[in-house]
Amino acid sequence: MNTGKGIPFVDLITPHVELQDDLLAAVKDILTTGMFIGGPVVEGFEKEFATFCDAKYCIGVSSGTDALRFALMAAGIGVNDIVVTVPNTFVATVEAIVQAGATPQFVDVDPDTFNMSVQALENYLRTECERSKTQTATIHSATGKIVKAIMPVHLYGQMCEMDAIMDLAEEFGLSVFEDACQAHGSEYFSRKTNRWHKAGSIGRAAAFSFYPGKNLGACGEAGAVTTNDETLAARVRMIRDHGQSKKYHHLVEGYNGRLDAMQAAILRIKLGFLNDWNTSRRQAAARYQQLLGSAEVVRVPFEPSWSRGNYHLYVICSSERDELQKRLGALNIGTGLHYPIPLHLQDGYPNLGYKLGDFPVTERLAGEILSLPMYPQIVAQQQEQIAAAVLNLHSPTVITSTLPD
Ligand SMILES: *Cc1c(COP(=O)(O)O)cnc(C)c1O
Repeated sequence: MNTGKGIPFVDLITPHVELQDDLLAAVKDILTTGMFIGGPVVEGFEKEFATFCDAKYCIGVSSGTDALRFALMAAGIGVNDIVVTVPNTFVATVEAIVQAGATPQFVDVDPDTFNMSVQALENYLRTECERSKTQTATIHSATGKIVKAIMPVHLYGQMCEMDAIMDLAEEFGLSVFEDACQAHGSEYFSRKTNRWHKAGSIGRAAAFSFYPGKNLGACGEAGAVTTNDETLAARVRMIRDHGQSKKYHHLVEGYNGRLDAMQAAILRIKLGFLNDWNTSRRQAAARYQQLLGSAEVVRVPFEPSWSRGNYHLYVICSSERDELQKRLGALNIGTGLHYPIPLHLQDGYPNLGYKLGDFPVTERLAGEILSLPMYPQIVAQQQEQIAAAVLNLHSPTVITSTLPD
């Protein structure tokens, strides 16, 4: 627990202090072997994370952004290809698509889940695209580019409606790449298989980020691709390592994009706690729901029955978001905005061809969302303090509330 004044938005210190002895021992092991790049520790982590995700293969890379980009490149997606995604995501989703050489096209998100709207996706495919004469490809009518893939983003750690997305992908001959960078351990209940599926095990491939603030975070930069596709796995392995299959045999153009052994050693230890940490986050989410669920000033996250989110972020909505954020800030309560400017309105992407008004749900959410402090170590008393501040937005003095029993 952080005992300082105020409540931080994230707590990157407590878990590392708690695990300090194990983390230092693991790093020391690397120092004594000199195996800094590749080797058994990286391979060990890859095996363990693949198992955690119920995927056959995991390939460690240097970031979540690289994971997204390498997965697309490994599938041969590039120039003249379209990847359909959402404007309500972190910029890396689009960076990866553009840097693979492809064109991102957006569909809006669902107003309840904030994730890719199946309706909007279906609309896009049925009304803006056509099948090629041979019926083998889906062509975007206005540009003539080929739609190759869908990249749903499991935003805030809540999974997209994967049954419907996979069905549409199959109908239109598209690959699905999950942006699971916020979704370590999140689960989706498929009505088709009648069981729960882990993020990273459903699409053709998935990308994870181990940026320090993610549910499984490195002490630096790291990421991974998961897939059940052996050929794709082998290609990602080459692309992350200068395109080589063995030393100095460069079969494709690659990158320096490997996961290093020190990060892998740290991730291996932290992976052992991920299920417990996610459970704690879900408990904290339930407590927020109890405290704020009936409040008039805010709307709490909606979790469909088929979703078991990992609550990477806990995001509420309010028409008085700015006032709320200011009030919490004045009380030393950390908050965040994920994300304040939709990607189709970013200055860095003037060529995507969109304008204000194109994605009304995303645009509205950008002005209403507020991420509250959320981490496994947050305690009830802190959440009560936060809830009290939210509920008393309009009262001049701060009253503390307690949990209803
Ligand atoms: C964090 C994140 C990424 C990028 O991961 P990095 O490891 O920071 O490169 C991509 N997509 C989403 C949705 C993310 O949250």
